Amino acid sequence: MRGAWHESVSREGLAPVARASAEACPACGATGELVAGACPDCGLQLA
Ligand SMILES: [Zn+2]
Repeated sequence: MRGAWHESVSREGLAPVARASAEACPACGATGELVAGACPDCGLQLA
């Protein structure tokens, strides 16, 4: 299940940030917990 979800995210690439349910970063695809609302990998503000 997790694999399929990851595949979906990478396929959609630049998904709208408004899709808050998907926590993968739209810029780099990182799925870690946000740090102060920002991607822990590239620093993009997501929240
Ligand atoms: Zn990122």
